[in-house]
Amino acid sequence: MSKLQISKCPSCGSKNLKKVRKDWKSTELKNNYTVPSLEYFECPDCGEELFDHDAMNQIEQYSPNFKKHHSKRKVAA
Ligand SMILES: [Zn+2]
Repeated sequence: MSKLQISKCPSCGSKNLKKVRKDWKSTELKNNYTVPSLEYFECPDCGEELFDHDAMNQIEQYSPNFKKHHSKRKVAA
């Protein structure tokens, strides 16, 4: 089992992360795209969005230049 568990916000240390499922819009200025029904974690305390492996894969499918543009978003390891 290699299911990634994100239980703590890397930004503020909050443990109140919520798993959400909704359309996620890229906030990159040059790359506007939306990933429909993306499941990811949201930190209610600081607003950080966290993506596990599955979510990253989904984003990758929609992002025009995911590979060369190294994501600044964190994935908890
Ligand atoms: Zn946080």
